[in-house]
Amino acid sequence: MSAAEERREELKEILAQVKGCVRCSELASTRRNVVFGAGNANADLMFVGEAPGASEDEQGLPFVGQAGKLLEKLLGEIGLTRGEVFIANVLKCRPPGNRDPLPVEIENCREYLYRQVELIQPRVICSLGNFSTKLLRGDLTGITRLHGQAQPLTLGSRTVRLYPIFHPAAALYTPRMLETLREDFSRLPALLAMDELEQSEVLEVPEVEPEPLEEAPSVAGGGQGEVDQLGLF
Ligand code: URA
Repeated sequence: MSAAEERREELKEILAQVKGCVRCSELASTRRNVVFGAGNANADLMFVGEAPGASEDEQGLPFVGQAGKLLEKLLGEIGLTRGEVFIANVLKCRPPGNRDPLPVEIENCREYLYRQVELIQPRVICSLGNFSTKLLRGDLTGITRLHGQAQPLTLGSRTVRLYPIFHPAAALYTPRMLETLREDFSRLPALLAMDELEQSEVLEVPEVEPEPLEEAPSVAGGGQGEVDQLGLF
């Protein structure tokens, strides 16, 4: 078995574990399906959203509602398909009524996301919105300040490029936000074409002032979408 196949098998083991997860009793008792993530298990590019919404919970797949359709469209504009990337979320279960994820839920689910990153080994992680950006960077700086700027991120033994962008749900009804998102998306191919990170880059973590306590509204969920029956991996 190749190393990539072994990683894929391990990812399936995590999937089985997550399907039976009851760490968050409320989410475990209200979810219809766990939404583990979907796409290429060996993707160079991984997206991390917030949490499944109603459509995702129903179908067991990430980003299948309106926000997902926009994500797919923006991917198409840079010549990529869902099957070439991996799409996951901070939370694998839908928070009831699409409320914000609770800190304890984010903490309970963190290990699964980190294992996904370790096994998929993306070169670029695109965090969508505040929740995933704050979790992965480990601080409270908001997406408004960080979007469109890649930075090195060390997770476990690997350093990847983290590229925070606005959550597509935030751009659904705001043309100006959509333009910003599109501009940020347009830089992804160049980022993906860059070499592995040099150690000098790894040490140069940009200093950013934390944003004041402004918190974007929750963006999980979205309208009904077509079932996108990608194989899970
Ligand atoms: N919003 C998210 O953050 N994730 C999904 O999977 C769907 C909508």
